[in-house]
Amino acid sequence: MKLVSNVHNNSTVNNILTIDVEDWFHILELPSEIPVKDWIKLENRVLKNTLSLLNLLSRYNAKATFFVLGWVAQYCPDLIREIEKQGHEIATHGYSHRLIRDLTPKEFAQDVSLSLEYLSRATSKPILGYRAPGFSLTEDCLWALDILLELGLSYDASVFPLKRNHGGYKNFTGEGGFINTPKGRQILEVPVTCNNFLGKKLYVLGGGYFRISPYWVIASGIKQLNQQGKPAMIYLHPREFDPLQPRLEMSKVRSFMSYVNLHTTETKLEKLLSNFRFNTIKNIWQLSSVPKLTELQAA
Ligand SMILES: [Zn+2]
Repeated sequence: MKLVSNVHNNSTVNNILTIDVEDWFHILELPSEIPVKDWIKLENRVLKNTLSLLNLLSRYNAKATFFVLGWVAQYCPDLIREIEKQGHEIATHGYSHRLIRDLTPKEFAQDVSLSLEYLSRATSKPILGYRAPGFSLTEDCLWALDILLELGLSYDASVFPLKRNHGGYKNFTGEGGFINTPKGRQILEVPVTCNNFLGKKLYVLGGGYFRISPYWVIASGIKQLNQQGKPAMIYLHPREFDPLQPRLEMSKVRSFMSYVNLHTTETKLEKLLSNFRFNTIKNIWQLSSVPKLTELQAA
């Protein structure tokens, strides 16, 4: 990666901005898990954090794909309506924020289906995409892709092509495009984008990695992809814009990655919005033309 300190990008490449809409207590694999039935008793911060993020995006006329947790859609349906009203894409992050590896295929289908039920009550447009909690789509649970197609979804954005805590799909090769499912169908996969640094894959474009990295490193990473004509994908959560969120008990390493540099997220994103173009997965992949499973079968 060629690192430059003064990044002003005139690229016409549209990058992908994705937001996983969940609250401060949805951090994965805590030492003592908070049951779903108790989530409603906790302070809701996702509403105001997402609304302030929407304000930021509207100032720069940037559009994003919001992977909304079904539970959030159940309790904040007006927020989903507002996201859609402002021209963003609504997609699903499942209902109960559980890793795919902890679910049977039947439980996974029920979880995604429940999320679609709550999301579709608040949206007028079809939901096309899914992202797994913790990017937990690995080589061991590709069966999930067939279930997504069976539920009427068109794309998956759950591949993190490096090793990570909750899985990661480090042997995933290639970039976004159609991939084969175990049942011989095809689904559009839109993976997280990595950079090359001294011949190694490096990730700086989302979550804790985004908060740790200085702005110029992130901007250089986007520029490197754009110079090759490729869109970069950023992923963030509303809680990452909230330095005052309550702190949950977890290991020192997890705590560092979850809470480091929360005060820098908004400034970094605002700078990116002024220097790069961002749009939704649906718009960038022109998904109105993606055939649905039923059409594929009929063809
Ligand atoms: Zn999540």
